[in-house]
Amino acid sequence: MIVTELAIVGAGPAGLSASIEARRARVDVLLIDENARPGGQLFKQIHKFFGSRAHKAGIRGINIGTELLRESEELGIHIWLKGEVCGIENGHNLWVVRDRNRSEIVKAKKIILATGATENAVTFPGWDLPGVMGAGAAQTMINVNRVLPGRKVIMLGSGNVGVIVAYQLMQAGAEVVAVLEAAPVLGGYGVHTAKVSRAGVPFYVSHTIKRAFGTNHVEAVEIVELDNSFKQILGTEQILDADTVCLATGLTPLTELAWLAGCKFNFVPALGGHLPIHDDKMHTTQPDIFIAGDISGIEEASTAMEEGRLAGINAAQELGYISEDEAKIRTDAIWDSLNSLRSGYFGQKRRDSKDLILQNGKR
Ligand SMILES: Cc1cc2nc3c(=O)[nH]c(=O)nc-3n(C[C@H](O)[C@H](O)[C@H](O)COP(=O)(O)OP(=O)(O)OC[C@H]3O[C@@H](n4cnc5c(N)ncnc54)[C@H](O)[C@@H]3O)c2cc1C
Repeated sequence: MIVTELAIVGAGPAGLSASIEARRARVDVLLIDENARPGGQLFKQIHKFFGSRAHKAGIRGINIGTELLRESEELGIHIWLKGEVCGIENGHNLWVVRDRNRSEIVKAKKIILATGATENAVTFPGWDLPGVMGAGAAQTMINVNRVLPGRKVIMLGSGNVGVIVAYQLMQAGAEVVAVLEAAPVLGGYGVHTAKVSRAGVPFYVSHTIKRAFGTNHVEAVEIVELDNSFKQILGTEQILDADTVCLATGLTPLTELAWLAGCKFNFVPALGGHLPIHDDKMHTTQPDIFIAGDISGIEEASTAMEEGRLAGINAAQELGYISEDEAKIRTDAIWDSLNSLRSGYFGQKRRDSKDLILQNGKR
């Protein structure tokens, strides 16, 4: 059994930021991630971030990740890669499978869960054919593994993930045959949708996929128009030539470990579903468990980093490394920053929803 003061699960922007704050306060930190490389989603994000300059807008996600990794290395943070946390017991013991072939128990005084989110799927006849995948999976293939998932792609979902990944697929050499959106209006920010549209990609609003055809792989896709109640309109079907379908139909927070730990939850659809209730220090209803990032509600890397800092500082305070007064001053400053992020054009809806899972109400 390995003993540590603070174990952090997930080395994305939230987990890295939490570990940097806690380590700066001299806490003994163990950061665990299932991937071969830390950084979470950041290393897929070759585009420049949106939002405000104070929150790294205009900087590419990959560069933000590199900066966080540089800081963690300088602080000598202990990171376990290829470590999947599969269980949690007594609120302190983590069950970790390392390198897929051995298990280890980590006993921690405090735990921060920063596990991020998973992609939602939608089903239709043929959805299980090779060639149908999450947009995030396609983004990992092109931007991390340098593999083109297909030549002719249909993107289902016009939110930011859908349009950003559509653009990156074109940059990687694929043809984006169409972007489909079930709602009558496009979901992504104008800056992203306009770029894809200018590149000649047709957008079909009020449309979805009826079925995908193929023997061993997607060979064609039948699309159909939807009425105001999202019912398919018979007779509007069209067949499009495609070998890949990317699903960009939302994300769901990865909360299994919080469920296992016995945290209390609330249902907040605008933030992705069932979410662990927490306070303004990112403390859950379990005495020694904190959360940070997309697990606390789907937002952005910028908010994930701020939440990670909140969790790291307050875990360090509870472990006796930072005084209550200092932790409060720093917590208040981070909340000013979070509120400015969430009250801007990019975050109002998130802020209103976030109030629903904060135990102490609005900050
Ligand atoms: C296409 C796209 C574009 C985006 N663009 C922007 C943008 O411009 N600006 C912006 O601010 N945000 C953007 N985001 C959002 C941003 O990437 C996420 O909000 C952010 O990465 C969330 O950080 P996180 O640390 O909570 O989770 P993640 O980055 O997902 O990291 C979580 C980590 O935990 C690991 N993990 C999960 N479960 C376990 C387990 N049981 N054991 C071990 N490890 C585990 C995961 O493998 C992962 O490495 C974008 C997202 C996408 C998909």
